[in-house]
Amino acid sequence: MTAIPLVPTHPGLPIAGSDERFPIRRAYCVGRNYGDHAREMGANPDREPPFFFSKPTDAVYAIDEGLPLDDVAPGHVPYPPLTSDLHYEVELVVAVGVGGKDISPDTALEHVWGYGLGIDLTRRDVQDEAKQMRRPWDMAKGFDASGPSSAIVPVAQIGHPDAGRIHLEVNGEPRQQGDLSDQIWSVPEIIAALSRTITLKAGDLIFTGTPAGVGALAHGDVVTAGIDGISTLSFVVD
Ligand code: MN
Repeated sequence: MTAIPLVPTHPGLPIAGSDERFPIRRAYCVGRNYGDHAREMGANPDREPPFFFSKPTDAVYAIDEGLPLDDVAPGHVPYPPLTSDLHYEVELVVAVGVGGKDISPDTALEHVWGYGLGIDLTRRDVQDEAKQMRRPWDMAKGFDASGPSSAIVPVAQIGHPDAGRIHLEVNGEPRQQGDLSDQIWSVPEIIAALSRTITLKAGDLIFTGTPAGVGALAHGDVVTAGIDGISTLSFVVD
């Protein structure tokens, strides 16, 4: 009998100011959570309740560390196969520390352990085709290394930011510019809605949507991004 394959454990994300790690259980993402981005994607931002998709746990990784098991160097994002329209989407990431179901918006923040900054990399051409063909988004959103992220900053350090500039530049040129206060669905509302759909547990991450200005990346592009008061990150597209 052949040996059972050994599956490497995901290292999780680093924790700012600590040698400990934040383990990742699942990675959820919110679609169209800033009005100006919803409009640029051809949707009506006023009427749609929040909807969710997910990325594989090991697609989310610390950009400053890379993915040694997948030969992804620190500070680099591999250009994925089967697309010619790789898009950036800068997002606030919520790190869940206490699970629950049917969570009330009033108590939702008690479930948050920390916050980070992540990029929801997207094969936009694959996503557009999936929308047209009424197919799932998985291969548009959940490819290898599709969630480069910062360290997680504990609530104990920064509290619960509900405002602050969120931005992304490509080769130094501003591309995305928004404010956390522009989110259609606030973090407590997102947690409440998601916890009515699935049971949230410690280690879950929630990418909370992106402001307007999404666009394509090319080989060699240098991406910088940040959320005031939380974190910054940068990488090169290979
Ligand atoms: Mn997104």
